[in-house]
Amino acid sequence: MNTPSSINRSRSAELFEAAKGYFPGGVNSPVRAFKSVGGTPLFIAKGDGAQIWDEDGNEFIDFCCSWGPLIHGHNHPYVFEKIVGTLQNGASFGAPTKKENELADFMLARLPFIDKIRFTSSGTEAVMSALRLARGATGKEKILKFDGCYHGHVDALLVQAGSGLVTFGTSSSAGVPEAFANQTLVLPLNNEAALIACFEEHHQNLAAVIIEPIPANNGLLLQDRSFLLLLRSLCTKFGVLLIFDEVISGFRVAFGGASELYGIQPDIVTYGKIIGGGLPVGAYGASNSIMSHVSPEGPVYQAGTLSGNPVAMAAGLAQLELCAADGFYANLAKRTQQFVDQINQFAQEKSFPVELICIGSIFWFSFNGKKRISAANQINSDMSAFNFIHHFLLDNGVYFGPSGYEVGFVSSAHTDNQLQYTAEKIMMAIETYYKNQH
Ligand SMILES: *Cc1c(COP(=O)(O)O)cnc(C)c1O
Repeated sequence: MNTPSSINRSRSAELFEAAKGYFPGGVNSPVRAFKSVGGTPLFIAKGDGAQIWDEDGNEFIDFCCSWGPLIHGHNHPYVFEKIVGTLQNGASFGAPTKKENELADFMLARLPFIDKIRFTSSGTEAVMSALRLARGATGKEKILKFDGCYHGHVDALLVQAGSGLVTFGTSSSAGVPEAFANQTLVLPLNNEAALIACFEEHHQNLAAVIIEPIPANNGLLLQDRSFLLLLRSLCTKFGVLLIFDEVISGFRVAFGGASELYGIQPDIVTYGKIIGGGLPVGAYGASNSIMSHVSPEGPVYQAGTLSGNPVAMAAGLAQLELCAADGFYANLAKRTQQFVDQINQFAQEKSFPVELICIGSIFWFSFNGKKRISAANQINSDMSAFNFIHHFLLDNGVYFGPSGYEVGFVSSAHTDNQLQYTAEKIMMAIETYYKNQH
């Protein structure tokens, strides 16, 4: 797509050319390369509230929000103050600090389904550690995951489903030995019959089931609560641990994430993204008895040079304090609902085949009318509509994550005016795209 000639993106283009000489594909995480939507990634110079500016000085309303962590927008003054204040005492010690206690205390007082946690430095690390813990605690080896869920770049979870309903995974990345992939079973989401059959056949070897209770990494694939409840009861019945990967949903749809929203108790829960206030933090937590398997209390080894880093803990605590304010989640969800409702109403009136699906402050463009998608391959594989909308919005000062498989986020920093402006631009983009289709 051509950029209107009045928009200057030359500095981003130059920086991307240079970056290609430094990093594979010019980036340090693949989706940033704009491969999915086409064009050249923007290099971001700064952010403030819901706004970001690229290196050419172009301004955008940001709905990527660093892929989820920034629930209060960029550089919220309270989070900023806590980070800088903590940093004045040094960045890292590799010894215990009271900041770890403070964040843990704040979280555990509000998360009734876990007794203890361990901080890591990323969501991937939290998931990887949770799997090891599940295996160590049960003495079993196999893990069950669902097609369409993403759990970071953990070897044994970079797997795809085969053709049957219950299949052993085949690796979806080079460098993952088939022997690892074979330790993972893959099932479609929201399919009760397949789930029951799988448990009956494999429960003896299953250490854990891992699921994003609100799958939000391949579109927003909302699950029926009844499906999650069935999963819970099968895990209990067969002695299999249930891991809720709440790296994206935790502190996003409610303080206690999907577990709180749906009222379902996981055995192990993983967090990331929002928990770090924009700095690199992950965590996993469980009951005292399960966590007692973790080293040095127990035999399951897990460690980290920068785990529990005081600056990151301070950022996380500041952010979570703001999240815990009365009515915070209800208000954010209400504003997000209003934002998507007007777009959906418009699309419906004009019979454009697009619908924004949302939960809490997460939303996603669905282009095939399916609301309950049970597997990644049921998502419309033609992303040309999203790619058009993405570029149309960029040209109009609105930044979305550069892939139609990714969700958008509303933060508490987004003003009503910014949401209204964006809704109008989205409606214009949709109309322009579908008018040109004829
Ligand atoms: C983002 C994400 C991860 C990976 O977290 P990183 O911090 O990127 O390693 C894992 N699980 C879910 C559900 C995620 O959304």
